[in-house]
Formats: sequence, structure tokens, C-alpha cells
Amino acid sequence: MMRYCIVCRNDEESKKIANRIQPKIKHQIDEDNPELVIAVGGDGTIIKAFHTYPNAVLFGIHSGHLGFYANYNVDNLECLIEDINTGSYQIEFLDLLTCKITDEENKEIVANALNEITIVTPPRTLILDVNIDQQFFERFRGTGMCISTPYGSTAYNKSLHGCVIDPTLRCIQLTEIAGINSNAYRTLSSPLVLSQKKNILLKAISPQEVFITVDHLSYTVENFKSLSIYNDNQTLRMAYHSQENFLDRIRRTFLISQK
Ligand code: NAP
Repeated sequence: MMRYCIVCRNDEESKKIANRIQPKIKHQIDEDNPELVIAVGGDGTIIKAFHTYPNAVLFGIHSGHLGFYANYNVDNLECLIEDINTGSYQIEFLDLLTCKITDEENKEIVANALNEITIVTPPRTLILDVNIDQQFFERFRGTGMCISTPYGSTAYNKSLHGCVIDPTLRCIQLTEIAGINSNAYRTLSSPLVLSQKKNILLKAISPQEVFITVDHLSYTVENFKSLSIYNDNQTLRMAYHSQENFLDRIRRTFLISQK
């Protein structure tokens, strides 16, 4: 017997699914320290479940229109129940992006992102030096920057006209949020896709207040000094029975009404 819990989006359809599966799961409910977590809802629900229980094996059931991460749906609930009860599921390891936020007093926050890390300073202009593997790359001026994983490439990054990345490519993507470009200021302007092995360091030119997001979590940092982003071999364990092809997933999520 294993310890499990259900994280459910607050809507009728998701609650109905959760109520349908719960009586059929043979394991023991434990909301404090579960080994298995069933997230019922959308991608947002899965992300929140991951941040609440980062060490658990995650089972995603999509109950809404989207569902980029979820490997189960309302039509294969019996398969999910069987997988959980008998352990007949497989596990995909999803690479996380680690970030270290440092302020002028050298106070540090370390966090892992499944989708992305963003840094912004609305309504002021953010000014940052972008260093890649300890080499100066550019001085950025604008609203902010988004640094995403391949899985997060279809989330905020996509709204910023970043590339959609096949998750079998192990990389990091840097996308600008309203970069200023003129004769005085120059940045790359296009999304930059780098090897996952690269270390990115965003350094303040002078101390300023910034907002940093790590998926749905946000941090206000007064006297921001630097944001370091790197791969620290951290992974999320996502359960599946049979995996949907990446292009089918993209079509289902973004193009299906076009036929
Ligand atoms: P949320 O409501 O949980 O998510 C916002 C939307 O992003 C939802 O429609 C969600 O899908 C979708 N989404 C999340 N991850 C995705 C992925 N990997 N691929 C495709 N769609 C994805 O919002 P939140 O709690 O504020 O923040 C969570 C995420 O929202 C962030 O990680 C960020 O990526 C995204 N976000 C997007 C924008 C933007 O596009 N302008 C702005 C801020 C934040 P479901 O409906 O299935 O949950």
C-alpha cells in the first residue's frame, strides 16, 4: 500500500472525476506526505500539484479544454485506476530549471521551475546584463525576460512569440518581454535557444526592485542583485500509460478546430 492524494481544480467536472476515482484507489490517502499525486484539472493544476508535492510521482488527468501535461483523460480513467493500483504505469522524468535569486545583502532563494522563470519590473524599465557561461552577452532594457523549459515553451513563452520546443530537445529558451531596441539600445530581440548545460546569469546594473515568477509562484525582491538560471539535474516524475506523440499534443492543444 502506498500513500496518495488528489489535487483537484475547483470546478464541477474536475470534482466529479475526483469523486469517481477516489473510492476505487486501493492506496492510503495522505495529504502531508504522498508518494503518488493525482492532479485533476488543467496544466495549472498539475503545476500547482508539482510545487506542493515536488517529490511525488504525478498523475495528470485533464478535465478541461487544454491539458498539455496530462497523460490521462476522462475516457481512460479505468486505465489510470489500474495503473495506480497495480503499479503498471511508466515514468517520464521531466527536467526542471533551477534558479537562484540573490539580493544586495546576498540573501538567496533557490527554486525549481517546470514551465518558466520570469523577471519583470513594471512600470519601470528593467536593465540587466545578460551573461551566458560567464561571458557577457548583451545589456537588456525593457519590461522583462522569460526563461523557459521545453515543456513551458507552450505556456507564457508562446504568448511572447517564443518557439514551441520538442521536449526531447534538452534546452533552455530566453525570450524578451518588450525589449527596447533603438540606436542607443540593442538586444538580440529574437528568442534564444541554448543547450540545457548553459548557465545564464542576469545581473542588475544598479539595485532595483523586481518581480520574479517561478511558474505560478512570485517573489518581490527589493535591492535585486542577480538571477542565476541553470540545470541542477532536478526532475519531476510524471506517470503515463501510453504517451501521446508531441505533434498530436500540439495539434490537440492549439490547432484541433482547424482540422
Ligand atoms: P494558470 O491559470 O494556472 O495558467 C494560465 C494558462 O496557461 C492556463 O490556460 C494554463 O492551462 C496554461 N498553461 C500552463 N502551463 C502550460 C503549458 N506548459 N503549456 C500550455 N499551456 C499551459 O496561471 P498562473 O497560475 O498565473 O500561472 C501558471 C502559468 O501561467 C505560468 O507558468 C505561465 O506559463 C502561464 N502564464 C501565461 C501568461 C501569458 O500567456 N500571457 C501570463 C502569465 C502566466 P490550463 O487551463 O490547462 O490550466
